[in-house]
Amino acid sequence: MLMVLRSLARSDVAGVREWTGANVLAIAALLLFAGRGRIADVLSIDVANLLFLGAPALMHAGFERHLGRPVPYRALAALVATSTVALGIFHYGVDAMTVRVALSSLFHGAVCVAMAWGLRPWAQPGRARYPIRFAFGAAVTLAGAHAVRAVLYASHHDAQVTLFDASPVNLVCFALGTLALPGLTLGAVMMANAGLIGQARYAAEHDHLTGAWSRRAFFGRAERAHADAVRTGEPLSLLIFDVDHFKAINDTHGHAVGDRVLADLVARAGTVLRSDGCARLGGEEFAVLLPKTTADAASRMGDDLRLMLERAFVPSVGGAGVRYTVSVGVATLDVGELLPGLMQRADAALYAAKRGGRNRVVEARSAPFPDTGSQVG
Ligand code: GH3
Ligand code: MG
Ligand code: MG
Repeated sequence: MLMVLRSLARSDVAGVREWTGANVLAIAALLLFAGRGRIADVLSIDVANLLFLGAPALMHAGFERHLGRPVPYRALAALVATSTVALGIFHYGVDAMTVRVALSSLFHGAVCVAMAWGLRPWAQPGRARYPIRFAFGAAVTLAGAHAVRAVLYASHHDAQVTLFDASPVNLVCFALGTLALPGLTLGAVMMANAGLIGQARYAAEHDHLTGAWSRRAFFGRAERAHADAVRTGEPLSLLIFDVDHFKAINDTHGHAVGDRVLADLVARAGTVLRSDGCARLGGEEFAVLLPKTTADAASRMGDDLRLMLERAFVPSVGGAGVRYTVSVGVATLDVGELLPGLMQRADAALYAAKRGGRNRVVEARSAPFPDTGSQVG
């Protein structure tokens, strides 16, 4: 598990350091436990117990950090300290191994309950469900196992058992104890991977500057919208719009203000368009897919967008501020038309709007050869 975690060392995933620390603590604790009788008791009992409880505490810290929450370090440290003192009392005050086991399980159970509560899948919307369910399941199983173990040892505290007897209870406890941390770590690694995949997908599908859909995402979505429109016979419209004289904005106010205009445009477009956002096709050119939207409705939306942006005002250094306008091309899918044909007609309409004086909406003419849409234009 340490080696698996190492593969994430350079990923910047929050929590990896804590999860790695937890595994290191657990390995150290297990080595100390194994030295029982050969090394000083303070090492094989007290220090080992301290490290062994530190492991799930750090796992919990890792999960909290990974989920973007503050880590309750003080509470965890207090729990570990209390546990160490309590175990010390039943080592140096009254030497009662069974009480130590029961207490240790109680503290482990408490940490696992906190961990399970932090991981509860129904409170983590938007996260990949399987990894978090897996980690939650591991924490719940572990909490349950520790509760059972605490009760068993507490109710047989005078029995002459040792941790190393081959009793069924010990075997089950050892099995769970051995699988616990790897199980939790596996859940953690799955969550980290799901997070990385999500980030990579977001980066591929979105434009970094404006947050609009990327060109690549646009074409994937357009293919699906086209297939839906063909299947259902419902209209599909497309707006392509481009900032007017954007080069002049850059030249006059600087590239940074130009960037701000693009971000402003995307944010405002999202408030006007009844769709799930616009895509940046490149430079200062954007597109919006409008499923189930007729040509008239699409033209009206294009005009609403144009009018709203015309009134927009982007602050610039020096205070004067920048106004900008867009030209819009609108096209609605013709019977039998393919996606490239629709795109070309919207693009041609956009350039007609530019030629017509800019800051206007032009509706594309119907495809002249509807069933060979890809060759239109
Ligand atoms: P038109 O009205 O005909 O569309 O003219 P225009 O000046 O908007 O068009 P042109 O294609 O001449 O210039 C587009 C400019 O957009 C050129 C390019 O440097 C700039 N540009 C492209 N991407 C970005 C960007 O991400 N940020 C900024 N600030 N400028 C960009
Ligand atoms: Mg332009
Ligand atoms: Mg352009």
